[in-house]
Amino acid sequence: MINLFQPNLGNDELALIKDVFDSNWLGKGKVVKDFEEEFANSLISNPNHFLSTTSCTEAIFLSTKLFNFTKGDEVIVPAISFPSIGSAIIESGAKIVFCDVDKHSLNVRARDIQKVLSNKTKAVYITHYGGIPCDMDKIVQLCDQHKILIIEDSACAVRSFYKGRACGTIGDMGMWSFDAMKTLSTADGGMMYIKNFNKRIEAEESLYLGLPVKSKSGLDSSSDNANWWEFEMNRTGRRAIMNNVTAAMGLSQLNKLDDFINRRKNIHAKYMEALKSTGDIQLPPAPDFKYRSSYYFFWIQTKCRDELAKFLLGKGVYTTFRYWPLNKIELFSKYADNECPNSDYAASYTLNIPLHQSLLDKDVDLIIDSIKVFYAQQ
Ligand SMILES: *Cc1c(COP(=O)(O)O)cnc(C)c1O
Repeated sequence: MINLFQPNLGNDELALIKDVFDSNWLGKGKVVKDFEEEFANSLISNPNHFLSTTSCTEAIFLSTKLFNFTKGDEVIVPAISFPSIGSAIIESGAKIVFCDVDKHSLNVRARDIQKVLSNKTKAVYITHYGGIPCDMDKIVQLCDQHKILIIEDSACAVRSFYKGRACGTIGDMGMWSFDAMKTLSTADGGMMYIKNFNKRIEAEESLYLGLPVKSKSGLDSSSDNANWWEFEMNRTGRRAIMNNVTAAMGLSQLNKLDDFINRRKNIHAKYMEALKSTGDIQLPPAPDFKYRSSYYFFWIQTKCRDELAKFLLGKGVYTTFRYWPLNKIELFSKYADNECPNSDYAASYTLNIPLHQSLLDKDVDLIIDSIKVFYAQQ
């Protein structure tokens, strides 16, 4: 079976993990700090705004707490968003307000947000679908005007740039995922950007037992105190920190990220060229602003999406659709008062086909040939 996504780790990662084993410091330490710094540097951004965690979902849940979402607040969520966003907002007590997206790019636009604004709107979650940035200038302008927070789910958009600025660092908070399906993978892991420095400190405390960031000691290291086992807490806190083992994988993956993205870019270009006049296929549109994509997804839109998916499965090619609209999920249905026709369209006709750095040329050829055979038979 040709996988839709596939991680790519090996001896380089093992060598750095071995160093961590040899150091006897498995928990959060210098390797995590190095990874946070290098990740920020690779986005041409200030490391003081960055914080690692255990998953992107953790960062999404944290965002609702950091910005004090509560009963009476409305939070705008594009229908095509990751499920954690819906869950986190519900748990905060705020109301989800769904908005539509662009029919072909599946990205939210300022005008989609505008349509559902109210004087209770507190924030909007943006997803850069497949690694292609949303048109942020217009969204930022609208949100500034109405004092709405922008939170960028950049899980698809590791090292995507919008007009020279890294996706995830344009709004008030952004988050990335390093789970097993992502381009840069540490099996599980996440990173966030937080614009406000005090909130960045609050985040660090919330994710590590509520212990004061400034204090010298963790729970069990000695300090200048006569009784070094005493400690204070600044707030309630969970324990959702990255460890040195995970960070070692991250550092190694970071070195290869440009190569990974370039390989994906080449495959993307090959699909674009080969499928441009095949059947009724609609290819992903290129934005009209300056951007760099992470090439996380490749997708096509076709009236015979379901038949094509089954045909490809029969040829050993796994395809799917990401992300099933949240307003169609029963759990969120009581919030689904707004019509989202473009998102409905995308859900009926969009198919994500395999795109990852380990795809072989012969895999890509097989996928293209199979798609062409399918349409020849129509
Ligand atoms: C993968 C993904 C997430 C969740 O990341 P985890 O690290 O698995 O929690 C969130 N949003 C998008 C768009 C994703 O693709």
